[in-house]
Amino acid sequence: MCKDCFLNEILKFESQSDFEEFEFELLEKVSVGKVTVFDIEDDLNIFNFENYYQCNSCAENWIMSAPNYTCKGYFLIQKNAIKYHKKLKTIDDGKLVGCCFISAVFLFIILWHIIM
Ligand SMILES: [Zn+2]
Repeated sequence: MCKDCFLNEILKFESQSDFEEFEFELLEKVSVGKVTVFDIEDDLNIFNFENYYQCNSCAENWIMSAPNYTCKGYFLIQKNAIKYHKKLKTIDDGKLVGCCFISAVFLFIILWHIIM
């Protein structure tokens, strides 16, 4: 992080106009050569629709996720974006386990009533 790229990360965009304002600033930095768009080695296979940028001054890798129906988007340095996606996956896995447990309990109750 430096003054040529960005000094702060954005955990979420508060609104579509907030995002558009930020995107304009980002694209301006790309057009003057402060930041470069690049392809990322996605070994973890966790990024799908994100855009990747590298600062030409401090070499920091940034990842931007545009807001959509399910998420408010973000602009994070690469290591924090990876942490963010791992945390989301843990939450999703937890929901799946909880859902399977509840389904098993309902199935047990139904079978119990049929048997009795
Ligand atoms: Zn920088």
